[in-house]
Amino acid sequence: MATVRASVYRRNRTFETITKAMPAPAPGEALLRVRRVGICGSDLHIFQGHLDHRVPIDGTIGHEVLAEVVSAPADSTFAPGARVVVEPIRFCGTCRNCRMGATYLCRDLAVLGVDATGGMQDYWTVPVDRLLHVPDTLADDDAALIEPLAVAVHDVGRARVGAGDRVLVFGGGPIGCLIGLVAKAKGADVKVAEINPYRVDLLQQLGLSTIGPDADPVEVAREWTAGDGVDIAFEVSGSPDAARVVTDVVRVWGTVAVIAIHAEPVPVNLYPVFARELTLQGSRLYTRAAWEEAIALMASGSIPASRLVSRKIRLEELQQGMEAALGGGLVMKVLVDLTL
Ligand SMILES: [Zn+2]
Ligand SMILES: [Zn+2]
Repeated sequence: MATVRASVYRRNRTFETITKAMPAPAPGEALLRVRRVGICGSDLHIFQGHLDHRVPIDGTIGHEVLAEVVSAPADSTFAPGARVVVEPIRFCGTCRNCRMGATYLCRDLAVLGVDATGGMQDYWTVPVDRLLHVPDTLADDDAALIEPLAVAVHDVGRARVGAGDRVLVFGGGPIGCLIGLVAKAKGADVKVAEINPYRVDLLQQLGLSTIGPDADPVEVAREWTAGDGVDIAFEVSGSPDAARVVTDVVRVWGTVAVIAIHAEPVPVNLYPVFARELTLQGSRLYTRAAWEEAIALMASGSIPASRLVSRKIRLEELQQGMEAALGGGLVMKVLVDLTL
């Protein structure tokens, strides 16, 4: 029997690449040959043990997947060889949240690659209704970023960013960067606050205005808006310092959107939420509509996604890749290339 590679999570900051039998698709599932998997901020939380209550022991992670169809049910639109991305969620469809349309916040939500088997393996079986077609014009390294782009599209949509809005993004990692690019594509005036000089440089190369480590975002926002405050601020950094000031930079009736995973309670200044009648909201995953918009946006050429890719690694290098990503420095997006 053919054996294939899979990366398994052993806990204690350990990923090991093993070989196993080729997975067999169940009824309604497609068999995928995985080509790229992005390493995400939430994967770094897994690596550090923060999600050990969700990730199975010896489980396989990876939820940002570009793959090629090997086989799919005959009544599907997916022929062998088709390139696909995977909307990595499983939901019940009947709970209150699902009935409201928040299927991605289902009471029994399972994220494939966190709670259930993900794509850090050569071959992966996935329910065919979780697949979306990738346009032929997109390179593999671009298409590998459709999942985080869908996150950004959802975030920008929920915050109702529009043309002419002034938008301040705290945190210029992959998601903050993509939020900036999506907001800009909608005609917003965007600044991204980031302390890592490598990322500041890359953000500028991508055409984003930045607030670097030597500047105070609160001061910049005040000057930028003649004291009014920005229309929308996104907290994507996960930094307690940013959480502390994010409500200080927004205008009357403006919006603060919390995107980062703040695993611990942190101080937030709620006085401006009252005094300036702010809207404070969270955004977590995505709707199917956000995926479709992300694919269309990337296909239109306005998001140079592959330029975020700072490094590609082999599956066997996953653990070192995580360590490098955690160490900061010269890193934006790291992709695991399963064709290597
Ligand atoms: Zn992700
Ligand atoms: Zn549900």
